[in-house]
Amino acid sequence: MQVDQNNGNRIDNNDSSTTNDIDQPANVKALNLPPNTSCLLVKTRTIAIEPIPLPSLQPDGVLVQVMANGICGSDMHSYLSGGVGGRPIDGSKPSVMGHEAAGIVIAVGSQVWSHVVGDHVAIEPGLPCRKCVNCKNGRMNICTTVRYCGTPGVHGTLSRYYALPADMAPHIPKTIPWDVAGSIQPLAIGVQIGKRVDLRAHQTVAIFGCGPIGLITAAVAHAYSASKIIGFDIKPSRVDFAKKYLSPLTGRPIFDNVFLLDPLVISETNGTAATAASEHGHATPGDRAWMAAQKNMDAVMKATGLALDGGVDRVVEASGAQDAMLHGIAICKDGGVYLQVGLGHIQTNMFPTIALTNKELDVRGITRYTASCFPSAIEMLGRGVVDLAQLITATYPLSQAKDAFEAVAAGNDIKVIIKNQEV
Ligand SMILES: [Zn+2]
Ligand SMILES: [Zn+2]
Repeated sequence: MQVDQNNGNRIDNNDSSTTNDIDQPANVKALNLPPNTSCLLVKTRTIAIEPIPLPSLQPDGVLVQVMANGICGSDMHSYLSGGVGGRPIDGSKPSVMGHEAAGIVIAVGSQVWSHVVGDHVAIEPGLPCRKCVNCKNGRMNICTTVRYCGTPGVHGTLSRYYALPADMAPHIPKTIPWDVAGSIQPLAIGVQIGKRVDLRAHQTVAIFGCGPIGLITAAVAHAYSASKIIGFDIKPSRVDFAKKYLSPLTGRPIFDNVFLLDPLVISETNGTAATAASEHGHATPGDRAWMAAQKNMDAVMKATGLALDGGVDRVVEASGAQDAMLHGIAICKDGGVYLQVGLGHIQTNMFPTIALTNKELDVRGITRYTASCFPSAIEMLGRGVVDLAQLITATYPLSQAKDAFEAVAAGNDIKVIIKNQEV
């Protein structure tokens, strides 16, 4: 058996240590578990529901019976493109999908004192190397060799059973329903969004994109006592959903306003002002788009009482759409912070660099989550200051994972959860 120190309990494809029970400690063998049915990404839009070997429980690890697993945008990216981060899946070595999971500890390693059988835990899906320059600088979320669940070559959590180092399995209160527990990882991302956008009490916040991450960001901002939260989306159904997302603290909507945005029309007619603004006396499509975005956001600021402030303190762009980026910079007040969360396309042609320098904005990115994000997310759920149950619009058994992915692809759901034990 080869156990890479960095790899810990993660199982590699073609890792012979996982192919039989010989390497399992006696407490795992005694469980006599059924096949480890899993959801494997084979190629674009093609998955297989079949057993993989039970992962080896390591001395410092726990074996988890996975109860629920959320699906998110990055899973959809893998599903629809057959890979993630530009790395295509090799069809001969399918990986288990999934990275948002929670379950019950069914066995603990011989060196583990922090967990006992029966504990409810979340699964932290990223295992940093602890050795690269970013890890050494304390930024393990941008570890250059992180092993992240559900990425090519690293099995994810869409299995019946999953083994991981015990310290990557934070305890969750048994009062949290499994569906909700399957959404702890995106809430941890929401906490990291709060950190990166430097969210503080009594700030005004604009959120572009009212999908799960946009809604979760709003819930975190609300829990942190934002003074005003404004949402935007281009889909009427998402705008309606966001308007009805209620605070568990006040019983009232979390968003103060949610606006439906139309695509920016880059017509000649709104080019007059742009022409005046253009050094060269002619308005480029970028000038016209920027002027149109400013005009839209001026109207929003007037409608929401933000005109005197000149915009919001914090902008979270969670759609990846170029229009939203332009609108986001337009509504960010001078000296504010703009956070790019949405992945979007490489080919983003328009970004108003003059505005962001004139306003002296902090424009930032975010990757995954950092230390303390999972504990904060779990505590917020446990204390009832954030409610994720409202966001879960559908659940599917593991045996019907394809239907779950297709449902998310259709875009009519908010958060879809897979029940890993329903095979
Ligand atoms: Zn996710
Ligand atoms: Zn590292």
